[in-house]
Amino acid sequence: PLVLGIETSCDETGVGIVRGNTLLADAIASSVDQHARFGGVVPEVASRAHLEAMAPTVERALAEAGVAFTDVDAFAVTAGPGLPGALMVGVAAAKAYALSLGKPLYGVNHLAAHVCVDQLEHGPLPKPCVALLVSGGHSSLLLVPDVASDVRSLGATVDDAAGEAFDKVARVLDLGFPGGPVIDRLAREGDPDAIAFPRGKYNDGTYDFSFSGLKTAVARWVEAKERAGEPVPVADVAASFQEAVVDVLTQKALKVCKDNDVRDLLIGGGVAANSRLRAMAAERCEAAGVRLRVPRPKLCTDNGAMVAALGSELVASGASPSDLRLPADSSLPIETVNL
Ligand code: ATP
Ligand code: MG
Ligand code: FE
Repeated sequence: PLVLGIETSCDETGVGIVRGNTLLADAIASSVDQHARFGGVVPEVASRAHLEAMAPTVERALAEAGVAFTDVDAFAVTAGPGLPGALMVGVAAAKAYALSLGKPLYGVNHLAAHVCVDQLEHGPLPKPCVALLVSGGHSSLLLVPDVASDVRSLGATVDDAAGEAFDKVARVLDLGFPGGPVIDRLAREGDPDAIAFPRGKYNDGTYDFSFSGLKTAVARWVEAKERAGEPVPVADVAASFQEAVVDVLTQKALKVCKDNDVRDLLIGGGVAANSRLRAMAAERCEAAGVRLRVPRPKLCTDNGAMVAALGSELVASGASPSDLRLPADSSLPIETVNL
């Protein structure tokens, strides 16, 4: 079946179209430039941008896929978690489209969609697999027996998300927003061992993360340099910070695999686009005999294809469609795959 997925949980208006696990279109309109001068996403600005971009982005996706609107067999939409106003725009649009064509609608979890999107690139997910979900708002370790019906949280950040740490450190270094891509790029010219930043909760026996101490340590270190009137070695700070984040993420992800005797690890979410995370995960998985799956960077950050992918998986698994009273739930728990 042909599934059209709509994503509006943050600042990306994404519309993806899939047939089974085949990606046909992935159209995105981003309002990121409108938020840049505020140093973070402004909810009202994001909602308005979604409203303006929705219809044109659907048109673009249909053209890219070479299908007619009436060919769509089912609609999927991010029902949460995310910004309430932004989610409401996508949910309202998806209801209108589904109702007008008389086709089923699936309200899906944005985080499960970040995991499921890998099926478009590497085929069906092994059952079970372990998923490291690292994004702007979440950092979680999940045991995933079945992405359509059974996602279990084993650990999560107790303070900042990994992506949030990248964004905050970028702000300290005056690198703009979002911080992840810039730090990734700058770190390539820096020494990851130049500064020994703290690795929170490294050996605490849990599957939880903590990144706020690291963020504060970076800010203190940079302030001390500035106070001393010395130049800040930005590339070294970026590389050393990134190394600390990536070290903890991969160490804990592999611990979950080992403790649960699972041989497949998937990494998803915006931070999964990070080149150092991808490289270190590949090395450590190889050494541990764990198979690694990471979607290509464009599918890691928010997009509509991931929503279509999870919608398609729900259709295939025989899940019930959502009621047309489907709410947008800004704090939808990670274990609720669909509403
Ligand atoms: P959530 O999925 O938790 O609701 P979100 O949708 O805002 O949050 P994503 O789009 O999945 O988040 O990811 C955005 C985050 O990913 C930002 O914090 C950004 O800095 C980070 N990010 C993007 N590219 C990279 C990269 N190359 N390296 C590190 N971080 C990155
Ligand atoms: Mg974004
Ligand atoms: Fe996301």
